[in-house]
This record gives sequence, C-alpha cells and structure tokens, in this order.
Amino acid sequence: NLREEVTVEGFLDPLRRRYAHQPVFLQAVEEMAKSVTPLFEDEVNGEFYKRAFLVMTEPERTISFRVLWQDDRGDMKCNRGWRVEFNSALGPFKGGLRFHPTVTEGVLKFLGFEQVFKNALTGLPMGGAKGGSDFDPKGKSDGEIRRFCEAFMNELVKHIGGNTDIPAGDIGVGEREIGYLFGQYKKLSNDNDGTLTGKPLILGGSLLRPEATGYGAVYMAQIAVEREGGTLKGKRCAVSGSGNVAQYAAKKLIDLGAKVITMSDSNGTLVFKNGMTLEEWNTVVEIKQKKRGRLSSLKLCDQNTEYIANHSPWKLRDLKLDYAFPCATQNEINGTSMDRLIDNGLVGVFEGANLPTTLAGQKHLREKKILYIPGKACNAGGVSVSGFEMSQNAMHLIWTNEEVDAKLKETMQAIYNQIDNVKEGGECTLEEGANRAGFLKVALAMKKLGWIW
Ligand code: GLU
Repeated sequence: NLREEVTVEGFLDPLRRRYAHQPVFLQAVEEMAKSVTPLFEDEVNGEFYKRAFLVMTEPERTISFRVLWQDDRGDMKCNRGWRVEFNSALGPFKGGLRFHPTVTEGVLKFLGFEQVFKNALTGLPMGGAKGGSDFDPKGKSDGEIRRFCEAFMNELVKHIGGNTDIPAGDIGVGEREIGYLFGQYKKLSNDNDGTLTGKPLILGGSLLRPEATGYGAVYMAQIAVEREGGTLKGKRCAVSGSGNVAQYAAKKLIDLGAKVITMSDSNGTLVFKNGMTLEEWNTVVEIKQKKRGRLSSLKLCDQNTEYIANHSPWKLRDLKLDYAFPCATQNEINGTSMDRLIDNGLVGVFEGANLPTTLAGQKHLREKKILYIPGKACNAGGVSVSGFEMSQNAMHLIWTNEEVDAKLKETMQAIYNQIDNVKEGGECTLEEGANRAGFLKVALAMKKLGWIW
C-alpha cells in the first residue's frame, strides 16, 4: 500500500532496505530523492508526488536472458543479458546497451532510472531503458564480438522495435557493435524501421551521433559558465576517460580554446601540462578508435606531456584545474577527491558520464556552491541525437552536420533553461533543478495516462 508506506521522515529508509543488494541503483534513487522530497511538502500535490516517486523506482519490465556464443577456439561461452524497460510514459523505451564485466541487473537499473529523467529533459517523446551484458569485449577478436552481438540479439529481438524499445550504445557498445546487432535484428525481424540508434552512417545513422554526447556536455558547460559571466576559453579542463564521450568532449573544448589537461583510461592518466594540442588529440583518437589500444602505448615526444600509471585524473594530488568533465564511468570521483579538487581550484563539474560523482562528492559540490550540472542533464546530447536519428529514419532523409549541430545546441540550451527555471522557482541548485524538472515531467505524463493517481 503505497499510501501508508510514505512519510517524509524516514522516506529513504524503506528504500535503503529494499535496494541494499543493488547499491548503485540505490545511490541513483537517493540522489533523486534528495532533490524531490522537498516537493512532497506541497499542499496540493505533495502526497501524489511521494507515490509517483515510489512508482518510478519500479521498472515497468525487466528481461533477463542467457547468451550462448562461440569463441575463436570453438568453445561455448555463456553470459547474461538484460533489458530493463524502466518507464514508457513519455514514449517508447529508449536507452543504450552496456557490455562490461561489471554489468549487473542493479547497474542497469541505475542506468535505466537515470535515462528516464534524462530523456524527459530532452523534450523528445522517449521513455527510458537500459540493457547490456556482463560480456567483456576487451581482447576479443572481431569475429567473437560479431558472434556475441548476434547471440545477444537472438534474444533481445523479441522485445524491441521502432515503436516499442529502441536500444543504442553505451560503454563497450560503439558503432561496430550496433552494426552487428542491427544486422542480426534485420535478419530476424524483417523490419527496416531503423530500430537501434548510433548506427553507422551508411546504415541509416545520424551525422554527429558519435560526437553528440561529448559536444553536448561542452555546450552545456559553455552555457552555464557564460551565464555566470565566465568563459571556457583558456581554462584548465580535466577530462577523464578516452572513449567516445571523452574524445569528443576534449575535441570541443580544444575547439573552444580551453586547455584540456588530462585524458585517461582504466590503466592511467595522460597529463598535458599546457593543454592538449589537436595533433595529440588525433593521436589519442587513432590509438583508441583504430587500434583499440591503451593510452600507455602513446609515444610521448612533448616534454609537457606525461603518462601516470594506475591513477585517474581525480586522484592526482597536485592537479590544478578550473573545470572537471568526468566522462569515464560511475562513481569515479569520491568525496575525498572532490574535496582536494576544490582545494586545487575546481569551480565547475560537468558530467559526461552517468553518475560519475558519489553522494559524498556531490555533498561537497553543494556545500562549496560549485557550478554543477549532473549527468542526466549534461550528457543528454547523446540520446537527443539518437532521437534525431529516429526522426531522420522515419522521414527517410539525412540532416546535414550543420542541421544536427544546431539542433543539438538548441536542445542543450532548452535543457539548461528548464533546469534554471525550476532552480529559480524552487530556490535550489542546478542539480536539484535538473532532477525536479525530469521528475515533474514524468509524474505529469503518468498521471495523464491514468497510470498513477
Ligand atoms: N547510452 C547513452 C546514454 O547514457 C545513449 C542512449 C541512447 O542514445 O539511446 O544516454
């Protein structure tokens, strides 16, 4: 009985007990709850919001399946696959697939939960979902990747479709994997409705989809920094990660005249003391995209560039920086690191990754009043261009780079305006504004559908 269960005090306690076995999902729920519980005081709608929030923590549907595939030696391998169809109030389920050994149902629930509110903020008609597998793509041959993708799709095909659930990429799933997944989808479904976004251009993908998440995060940073009378130009920006999001965040920062002082992978960090040059950026991208290699294999000829093994940028003791762009993975910046980063000059955090800051890290940001745009608003450019890909597929046409870029900028501006409006109205931070704006949209849609009352 949802009515009895919810009281403002102790609101989180039952949730903490219920989700103790899914810590990162619980963390995402807690972060949202911290922002939206003040709405529960509302005289007219408070009780409704409480119930709505609790319902929103339950995925509509979770599909879990076995994936059997053959490795290059002919051995049979077995992995688990999932699709968490979280909320379809605003439109068909939409969200990426992650292939990584750390993937569990709990991780995908956190990602799906975030995706619901992120997609709501884009203003496009998309519900939220996430899926993936504990399959580790590292060190696998192209044939193994293809056979895994085909086996994964053999199960997933039963649940997706252009008007029901549209997957895309995430960590470990890029253009190559989307191509193979789409290839199998086409064979099995006889459908050509473009289901799956992030497709290679030649298969109906959108221009700028690979760049979209990173570019969008930097556009958002630019909007927020300029709103405060500042500029990114000449500022020291630390980027973590070197995958798709990090690469294009770094590229856009360089284009805008900022100094990119770090990039990293799970083995270590490259530090560019005077800022990364375009040439260095090209070398990093070549290693990552063409060779699928590690940053440690980069031949360093510039004395101002250094590779530091076994450290993420956030663990470097004397990294002087202005802005942080965590673009690697969840929980990469903890409380201790955030505290030190702030001492070292940090004045803004723009999340390219999903939930890269721990609850303790976020607390420091609030207390020290640091400019902070959380992932669900800041990295929404990726899924927005996925939405544009769906539109182009439906219209059977291709927009130019300029058209997509202009629409991406407009979308990031519209997201900022929404969260700024809620912030002004509710006297809260941009982080809380983002969370509340997403929540209020989904709650209203669910109410109008008669799903909650
Ligand atoms: N995985 C991306 C995200 O976290 C993109 C999802 C999509 O394009 O559907 O938003």
